[in-house]
Amino acid sequence: MADKNGKLDLNKLSFSDSVSFYFDRASQFTDTPQGLLDQIKVCNSIYKMHFPVKYGNQVKVIEAYRVQHSHHRMPTKGGIRYSLMVDQDEVMALASLMTYKCAIVNVPFGGAKGGIKISPRQTPPEILENVTRRYTAELVKKNFIGPGIDVPAPDYGTGEREMAWIMDTYLTLRPGEIDGYGCVTGKPVSLNGIKGRTEATGRGVVYALNEVCSYADDMKGLGLSTGLEGKRVIIQGLGNVGYHTARIIREYGAKVIAVAESDGAVYDENGIDPVDLHRYRTEKKSVKGYPKGKVIADSLSALELDCDILIPAALEKQITDKNAARIKAKIIAEAANGPVTPAAEKILLKKGVMIIPDIYINAGGVTVSYFEWLKNLSHVSFGRMQKRWEEKHQRNFIKLVEDLTGKTVSKSKIDMLIHGADEIDLVNSGLEDTMIEAYQDIREFKKRRKNVPDLRTAAFAVSINKIRDSYYAMGIFP
Ligand code: GLU
Repeated sequence: MADKNGKLDLNKLSFSDSVSFYFDRASQFTDTPQGLLDQIKVCNSIYKMHFPVKYGNQVKVIEAYRVQHSHHRMPTKGGIRYSLMVDQDEVMALASLMTYKCAIVNVPFGGAKGGIKISPRQTPPEILENVTRRYTAELVKKNFIGPGIDVPAPDYGTGEREMAWIMDTYLTLRPGEIDGYGCVTGKPVSLNGIKGRTEATGRGVVYALNEVCSYADDMKGLGLSTGLEGKRVIIQGLGNVGYHTARIIREYGAKVIAVAESDGAVYDENGIDPVDLHRYRTEKKSVKGYPKGKVIADSLSALELDCDILIPAALEKQITDKNAARIKAKIIAEAANGPVTPAAEKILLKKGVMIIPDIYINAGGVTVSYFEWLKNLSHVSFGRMQKRWEEKHQRNFIKLVEDLTGKTVSKSKIDMLIHGADEIDLVNSGLEDTMIEAYQDIREFKKRRKNVPDLRTAAFAVSINKIRDSYYAMGIFP
C-alpha cells in the first residue's frame, strides 16, 4: 500500500484497501476509540469454499465465498455475485460496503457478501442451477444462511431465478422452518418476494438524485439548475441497476444522452429510450448496429462525454487515475459498488465534481430487501389488512363533505382520493423516505463539521457513528 517513502500510494490499493482507506479517512471525524474502530473495520467471518460440479462428462472445481463483515446487527445481509473476477479481496470489500450501507439507511443488518467465480453468461442454466444449489447447501452446512443468520440477495450476475433456487434448496434442507422464506431476498413475487424489489436500486438512485438536486445552493455551486428536469445524464451499464435508473430518471424529466455497455456505447443528444435499447441489446446480444444513435466502439470513452450527471452502474474501478481528469460530469452518482478508485476521487474532487457515494446512493436495493424480509417474517403483504378499510373511511369522509356543502365530488376525483395504499405504493414510499432522510443526515453532517471534505467522508462518518452506538449499547466497549 505504501511507497518507498512510507507514503500511501493510492494507485496500489486493492478494492478492500480502498474501503479501509475511506474508513480511516472518515474515522477522524467520529468520536470513536481506536479499538472499536478496528473492530468495526475488520471482516468478522470469511468462508472460502471449493466444491465439484459436473460439466457434461467432466468435473470442475468451483471457487466460492461468503463473507460476513459485521455481526453488530443480525442477520447479516448482502448479495451474491457471479463473475469470473470474484476473489476474496473483492468479496471482503463488498461485504464491508454492505455494513456501512445498511447503517446509513437504518436497515438493521450487518453487512455480508457472497461470490462465485463463474461466468453467468457462458454457463448453461442447468449448471448454474447445480452450482447455486450446492453453494446453498455448503452455506447451510456451516450455518452461514438463515433468516436470523445471513440473508443473501441478488448482485452482479444473479437475479430472481438464482434466489428462487437458493430458497428452494434452503427449505428442502430445513423443512418446516416457519420463517424459512426469509432466508433470501430478491425472490420472484410469486414466491414470497415483494413488488418493487427488482427496480429498487435504480429507483433509489433516482430518488436520491432528486433530493441531491433539490438544494439550490449546492446546485448553484456546481453551475447547475435546481431539480432533475432537463439534466443530461450518462449511464454506464444496462443491467438491472442501470436499466431501471435510466428508465425512471426520464420520468423526472432528465435526458439520458449516452449509455455505455461492455461492447460499445450509444450516444444521442436528443435522448435515448433505454427500454428500446435494452430490447435491441437482448435480441442482438450487443449494442452494435443500434440504429437510433451514434454507436461508440470504445465504451469507456463515453464516460468522458460532456454531461451533468454520470452514473456508473456496472462494476468497480471504472473511473481511475487514467480517465478521471477527462471526466466532464458535475455530479457522479455511484450506482455500482466502488466504481471510482481513491486515486480518481482525488483528481475529481480537486476539479470540484460532486461524488455521491455508493454506500448511500445504491442502498435502495437492500432497503427494499429489508421490506421483503419483514413481509416474510410477518407472513402477510403490506397493505392487505388496511387497504379496504382506508378506502371505506375516505369514502365516508367525502360523503360527509358532500352532505355539509351540498356539492357532489366527481367519480374520478373520488377514485383518486380514496385509493388505499397497496404493496407497491408502500414499498416505493418507504424507499423514497429512506433515501431522502439518509441524504439529509449525510449533508447535514458535512455542513455541521466544516472540515469534512466530501460526501463520501461524511457518509462513512455517519455510518461509523451509528455502528459505534450499537456496540456501546451492547456494553462491549467502555
Ligand atoms: N447486492 C445489493 C447491494 O449491493 C443488494 C443487497 C441486498 O439486497 O441484500 O446492495
